Amino acid sequence: MRKTKIICTLGPATEKPEILRKLITGGTDVFRLNMSHAKPEWVRRIVPRIRQLAEEQLRPIAILLDTQGPAIRTGDLKEPLHLKQGDILEFTVRGSKSPEKNSVTVNYDQFPSDVSPGDTILVDNGLIKLVVMAKKKDRVRCKVLNSAILGSRRHINLPGVHVNLPALTTKDIADVKLGTELGVEYVAMSFVREERDIEQLRRLLHLRKSLALIMAKIEDQAAIASIDAIIKAADAIMVARGDLGIEVPMEELPIIQRRIVKTCIRLGKPVVVATHLLESMIKNRLPTRAEITDVANAVFEQADAIMLSGETSVGRYPVECVEVLNRVATRIERSGGAGYAESAVLNDARQRTVASAVVLANSLPRAKIIVFTLHGTMPRNVSHLRPERAPIFAFAASEEVRRRLCILWGVCPIHIEFDKDPNKTIQTAESVLRNQKLVTRGDNLVIISDIVAEGSRFDCVQMRTIK
Ligand code: PEP
Repeated sequence: MRKTKIICTLGPATEKPEILRKLITGGTDVFRLNMSHAKPEWVRRIVPRIRQLAEEQLRPIAILLDTQGPAIRTGDLKEPLHLKQGDILEFTVRGSKSPEKNSVTVNYDQFPSDVSPGDTILVDNGLIKLVVMAKKKDRVRCKVLNSAILGSRRHINLPGVHVNLPALTTKDIADVKLGTELGVEYVAMSFVREERDIEQLRRLLHLRKSLALIMAKIEDQAAIASIDAIIKAADAIMVARGDLGIEVPMEELPIIQRRIVKTCIRLGKPVVVATHLLESMIKNRLPTRAEITDVANAVFEQADAIMLSGETSVGRYPVECVEVLNRVATRIERSGGAGYAESAVLNDARQRTVASAVVLANSLPRAKIIVFTLHGTMPRNVSHLRPERAPIFAFAASEEVRRRLCILWGVCPIHIEFDKDPNKTIQTAESVLRNQKLVTRGDNLVIISDIVAEGSRFDCVQMRTIK
């Protein structure tokens, strides 16, 4: 049973039911809808399709709606601009005109106030590098530092510059509302800069009576500066290496990834390593050796999930990509992990109870951990400690909670009805595991559940051997 979860971004390459079905059978745990590209009508069509196919295959699948965030883009061009090193390019805001041969509009009116002469501007995933020479109220004059072709609607990165765009744009708010209407399990917040941004999204979700969890995407220097507060405030973290690798010096990226994964595991926050894991498979059937090693590294570090972007949204080999992640993750998990959970921070008595169960499971042969949950907390506490070998069977009292567990490292979520008597609930869980052949005679079950004693409920750890 694979412990590292797989997230696939959907797009034109994967929207058809037959491909979606293969991605689910292949082991996808979470589908991501990228609102930088997805249209609301498409989201309305794809969400019920995912739900139906997951139900057909009796698989819990979570949906992650990823907001565009405060992203700056260039506007439409009649023809691509063929830029040469040393050329001048002007960025203009709404309503202004440039006398230069090379100019392009930007979608953000405050752009000239946010940048200063000497700042670096990176366009189209860093492919075009420019330096700001001068600015006026409505124009920014830049020198092109490398020859390249500029197409329409390219993403702009401003490393180290504080952009004054709101944390949630009007588009993001509309997209989040759509996500809550469709009942997505996770909302990813792009370009989170500080803890306050997350609180704003949480208020919006609360107003919409949504239980969706917030995944903060770490993708620029502002987020790195507030990383500890962001990790505490969010429900999950994504190391969004696409933008992050442009916003920080590239050699810093592996160090930042490791620091974030380590901190998240210490604090018990689910963490996703995203982007470019199998980039070459957008075009090729086989990954490069370096890509396999990158995937293996994320699995070795025991990130909760690894995420495919372009590989599955527009790539030629989406199903093969999931196969590769599945194979590499399963093999690497058997070879051991980095052990960051050894310094896990335990904050309350429930977490300490879970810790004792994990110590017990680690000391037993053929151990399986069984945990029950109403809201998802206890399975997260178990996953937090990264048990050495035992799978974590998490029994949830509702399908919604079950789907929210899909992202957690090592957790196999199952839905059952809970009885008022915890012992009866344990019996139901045991028979589900037997029926699905997930346990066999001689297995040692380490069970974390409630017991009722003297009219009160207590957390309890017990061990039973399957007879
Ligand atoms: C990333 O930058 O790695 C990422 C996942 O964000 P997006 O694809 O939304 O730019």
